[in-house]
Amino acid sequence: MEKRFVYADNAATTRVSDAAFEAALPYLRENFGNPSSIHSKGMAASRAVLEARQRIADAIGAKVNEVYFTSGGSEADNWALLSAAQAGARKHKKHIITTSIEHHAVLNTCKYLETLGFEVTYLPVSSEGIVNVQDLKKALRDDTCLVSVMLANNEIGTLQPVSEISVLCREKGVLLHTDAVAAIGHDEIDVKTLGADMLSVSGHKIHAPKGIGFLYAKRGTPLCSMINGGGQEKGLRAGTENVPAIAALGTAVCEACSDIKAKNEYITPLRDMLIDGLLKTEGAYLNGSRTMRTDGNVNISFSGVEGESMILMLDMNGICASSGSACTSGALEPSHVLTAIGCERSLARGSLRLTINEENTAEDIRYMLKVIPEVITRLRTLR
Ligand SMILES: *Cc1c(COP(=O)(O)O)cnc(C)c1O
Repeated sequence: MEKRFVYADNAATTRVSDAAFEAALPYLRENFGNPSSIHSKGMAASRAVLEARQRIADAIGAKVNEVYFTSGGSEADNWALLSAAQAGARKHKKHIITTSIEHHAVLNTCKYLETLGFEVTYLPVSSEGIVNVQDLKKALRDDTCLVSVMLANNEIGTLQPVSEISVLCREKGVLLHTDAVAAIGHDEIDVKTLGADMLSVSGHKIHAPKGIGFLYAKRGTPLCSMINGGGQEKGLRAGTENVPAIAALGTAVCEACSDIKAKNEYITPLRDMLIDGLLKTEGAYLNGSRTMRTDGNVNISFSGVEGESMILMLDMNGICASSGSACTSGALEPSHVLTAIGCERSLARGSLRLTINEENTAEDIRYMLKVIPEVITRLRTLR
């Protein structure tokens, strides 16, 4: 089999799509105006921002004034949590519920809020990585101001029962935030059926550039001031808008949210072919759920191998993959998500995450199924 280049790390970041790139270009060149300027160049830019906001709102079933642009998923997560915490503190409600498998943008904001006197409950998850709704119900208290549960996990792809959780939160009058960064484009998102008050999305995971994202906040949700300055984003997130990136994001969100069924029907069989093939290797274990899983996510642990060496050797063979999440793979500590699902330390360190998308082909899968077992065997004999 001929050597190929296979990018299978789409949960770390994606290629900017041609349409998103084209959407950004006019705002880097002829339409370079500042959206706050009232002349024609300014108006062209402000129209682009409004149009992107409208397209995003339509794609997720929101209203145009419920979409706030941010620098990405991390900022949207920070903003949601800090907002709910500030509003909660005013009513002496300083308890937050989240899960042990959230992205660090949520977990480390919770850690920060703990230093300000908030109490945080980190819910455990099942061995498949799913939070138990009854556990959440029991954790809700009179002083709970926020529940934050991700829609899909970025490492093991598990889908969380967020709409069920929203019913409990509504009954209790508790704000609900969901990090939808790893879910958008893989699952239909309608903020009304989901019932979340706040939802975070990042551009670069769905073929927009890095450094752009948005926070959906339902009308009436108390948002704090994230950046003080001018009147952008209703005066809550000041700073001249990143117009080219916003235009690209509008296009990328539209593309991500259209034909999801067709994409699922293309990607899921490829993912299953990859999982089934890799599980034939001796000492291979699937992390996460077989069914409650995003379409492109594969996460498998191999006994007796070290993640970093596996990634480097795969790279030499043209395969871009990841071990744990990109944010934690620099550190030697096993991923907090794999730890939370009870994956033992040595297996957690031998984990391989492959995240494929609509750009991958069956030929890519066959290539990975040939190369990966060879690499595993080689690494085991080198030990
Ligand atoms: C990537 C990611 C983020 C962070 O988004 P950035 O735009 O990189 O800041 C947050 N949550 C999840 C689940 C992610 O996968």
